[in-house]
Amino acid sequence: METTRPATVRASVEHAVEYLPVESREAIAERLGVPPEAVAKLDANENPYGPPPAVATALASLRDVHLYPDPDQRRARAALAEYTGAPMERILLGNGSDELIDLLLLVTIEPGDEVIVPVPSFGVYLSRPPLFGARVVVVPRRDDFDLDVPAIERAVSPRTRLIFLASPNNPTGNMVTPEQLRQILQTGRLVVVDEAYYEFAGQTLQAFAEDFDNLVILRTFSKWAGLAGLRIGYGIFPPTIAAALWRVKQPFNVSVAAQAVVEAALRDREWLMHRVMQIRRERDRLIEALRRYPYLTPFPSHGNFVLCRVHHGRAHELHAYLFQAAIVVRRYDDDWLRDYLRITVGTPEQTDRLLAALDAFR
Ligand code: PMP
Repeated sequence: METTRPATVRASVEHAVEYLPVESREAIAERLGVPPEAVAKLDANENPYGPPPAVATALASLRDVHLYPDPDQRRARAALAEYTGAPMERILLGNGSDELIDLLLLVTIEPGDEVIVPVPSFGVYLSRPPLFGARVVVVPRRDDFDLDVPAIERAVSPRTRLIFLASPNNPTGNMVTPEQLRQILQTGRLVVVDEAYYEFAGQTLQAFAEDFDNLVILRTFSKWAGLAGLRIGYGIFPPTIAAALWRVKQPFNVSVAAQAVVEAALRDREWLMHRVMQIRRERDRLIEALRRYPYLTPFPSHGNFVLCRVHHGRAHELHAYLFQAAIVVRRYDDDWLRDYLRITVGTPEQTDRLLAALDAFR
């Protein structure tokens, strides 16, 4: 049989799920012919307020950038132990929580193993496992996007290695309840609870890590801490998984700058939580306002984003229309979310711009 695949590229890479293109604010601005500041970037759940002042100070006073970063991430882990209350030995940082997802797959998957993903959810849970030889088993959520726990239990097979749950879930905004998590943990499989939006929700399932040795909690500084550009994620891992991760992670996976700002950001957490509360209030205003458009149905959210159903099959049309107005929201082309847009909660000015554009959408 003929193949177009270069002999050096693995089949799983050739068949990799392609992402809808993600563009930087600069690239978008260039394409639209506007200054970058004029682009309302509401497509990646970034934080419009950025990090607290202590982060800029820490970055300005960085020393020793000619030396490799601490491979043991000691100071950042100590700061996170204090912040989370989890023992330092169970904490490990990644180059974004995206890297930690890859590392978890690397240490758990043998070819042919299975990963369960309740959909819709964060696209990375679908795109990365096949690269490690895993088969993704998708379990549709209920109509209100709540987890279908019996269906998840039925999907568990002897080959199931991981179950990915996001709480709040991206993009649907709803939480995993303690009862649901307990039931899913009782399958005995390693359960990853991705709390990327924890600070916006104010609720965590971390307490289960004390009783269950098959629970991983993932977090990030990309959203609440306004530090997406520095790529800082961390996890609280069961001891055996933590030990495995230490064996395989690249020694210098988290840069000197990233490690330094962890401490600084956590020192200024009051400043950050003030902005988080501002974003929560803005989220509630945005949802209320979106409800007034007959062609939209916004969903409640515990994150810094709002999923919105766009009626009459016009989601992609609305996306393109907003894009022309330099308002960038997230669209989808999979079966579950084709009729939805996800809007990141921005500043009040960005919300006003969005609403004005929606008023004029015909
Ligand atoms: N998990 C979820 C649920 C997310 O939405 C995101 C960001 N889109 C991530 C993880 C990745 O975060 P990071 O920037 O830390 O890689």
